[in-house]
Amino acid sequence: EPKRQFSLCAIIENILSLFHKEMYRVKVHKRFHHTKAMVYGKQNQVKRAIFNLLKNAFEAIEDEGNIVIEHRRSSDSVILTISDSGPGIPQDKLSLLGTPFFTTKDTGTGLGLSQVYSTFYEHGADITVKSNGEGTVFTIIFPTVSSGI
Ligand code: ADP
Ligand code: MG
Repeated sequence: EPKRQFSLCAIIENILSLFHKEMYRVKVHKRFHHTKAMVYGKQNQVKRAIFNLLKNAFEAIEDEGNIVIEHRRSSDSVILTISDSGPGIPQDKLSLLGTPFFTTKDTGTGLGLSQVYSTFYEHGADITVKSNGEGTVFTIIFPTVSSGI
């Protein structure tokens, strides 16, 4: 897949439309503070990675709950956070995230997060996860695309 510049907002809206059947139980809060955020790289790969993160967030919320998607800009990066009000990830499992085939789901593949981690690594983006028993927050920091490309 060739690399190009693409809009983070546009791909997030696009991915969210795939989850429209979940919207009756999960409220999605969009806090887009940097609507012109552009990312440089392989669009389909990044799209699949954000899809995998959101899929996990929707799956983590068993009944009703909230997902917050926020992006903002810092001096040299675009920061995307995806938070969910699910049960969180136990501390002793955090280090296993991204290990191929690690899953706690009956029908899980355990391949979603390994795609996520390798994609963001390839894009020079930093990903961190925080979970303290009350939901989960993934933060992805993309290097900024210099304007004028
Ligand atoms: P799968 O979804 O097929 O299980 P993933 O690689 O996407 O595989 O995720 C691996 C595991 O990480 C999940 O089984 C789950 O235990 C945990 N996990 C990932 N995201 C979340 C989340 N948002 N909330 C709670 N647990 C999560
Ligand atoms: Mg998954």
